[in-house]
Amino acid sequence: MSLVKYRKKRNARVTPEPFGGKSIDTDALRFVIQKHAASHLHYDFRLEMAGVLKSWAVPKGPSVDPGVKRLAMMVEDHPLDYRNFEGIIPKGQYGGGTVIVWDEGTYEAVDLKGKTKKEQEKHLLHGSIAARSSLC
Ligand code: MN
Repeated sequence: MSLVKYRKKRNARVTPEPFGGKSIDTDALRFVIQKHAASHLHYDFRLEMAGVLKSWAVPKGPSVDPGVKRLAMMVEDHPLDYRNFEGIIPKGQYGGGTVIVWDEGTYEAVDLKGKTKKEQEKHLLHGSIAARSSLC
């Protein structure tokens, strides 16, 4: 879990985007979906995991029809404070455009009901590493 890529892409003196943050919730994992009107309108889907927000860009946005599949591209980890970020990233900067919070809440893995936040994070991270290595 590292924010090196996130920091490399942004200039803290120019963008209003957050660069840090701590988990506010000891029991639950948080998620956020942000609507981002950058050069192309898209949605950003973020899941709290082990101190960062694992992030995916969804070019076509959510669908109310579960049969409709949407492409989600994994992007760099974002800092936890990004969960509340709404604002305007200046033109010419990475992701330049307007960001609003479209939805937010908590999530849990369906097969891990009743497990602690730490246990869920461990399981989810193991799953994402397994999924990644099977793609390589
Ligand atoms: Mn975005």
